[in-house]
Amino acid sequence: MIDRKEFFRRSGHALGLAVLGTSAARILSKPSDDAEFIAQGRRFAWQIDPEKCTSCGLCKTSCVRKPSAVKAINDPKKCSNCVVCYGHITNSKIDSDKIDSEGERVCPVDAVERKNFSGGIDGLFLYSNNPKLCVGCGKCTKRCNEHGSKSMFLVIRPDLCLGCNECTIATACPEGAIERIPREPVDDYRGDYLFDSTYYMGEGV
Ligand code: SF4
Ligand code: SF4
Ligand code: SF4
Repeated sequence: MIDRKEFFRRSGHALGLAVLGTSAARILSKPSDDAEFIAQGRRFAWQIDPEKCTSCGLCKTSCVRKPSAVKAINDPKKCSNCVVCYGHITNSKIDSDKIDSEGERVCPVDAVERKNFSGGIDGLFLYSNNPKLCVGCGKCTKRCNEHGSKSMFLVIRPDLCLGCNECTIATACPEGAIERIPREPVDDYRGDYLFDSTYYMGEGV
């Protein structure tokens, strides 16, 4: 099990990686009394605990935003960079040179992108989830978590989330995987503390 600090750090960290391609991002948080926290002018964020989430599909349909504020991301530090990615295709026995052309896509909107990193057709591959296409259905994250290295997971994008007082996904979630947790300043390791999530996320999608 990971604690709240760790899972929010992972979410923020992976989002930063996904958008900026850097590992220099982290989000610090600590549990705090709600009233005291708000009185200090600080903010909360809804976030998914990846250890509880089963990628049931409700994150796609239950968010008040259409498309959902939930997106899949792939943590490059955990991904095994496989020739065949379970989050990418379902016909995993296919010849490696036919994956791009004949691989049966897991993602209904073909948002899981595969790029050769090194070593030719049987080398290392980078996988990412295009946030402009992703609708948060969780099909790729489910397969990665059941068959792969568990590097893909769902997050609520802070720059897309409306910060509803009652998150409708949290109400619908059968696993109780969504929590409202303190959102603390972002430390970019250079001593600059930023609250603006667009610094991490780039332009909203
Ligand atoms: S509703 Fe809960 S279990 Fe289902 S995908 Fe969302 S966070 Fe995961
Ligand atoms: S399978 Fe679903 S969650 Fe994964 S990238 Fe595609 S739309 Fe997003
Ligand atoms: S707080 Fe609102 S906008 Fe954000 S994820 Fe939940 S339902 Fe969607």
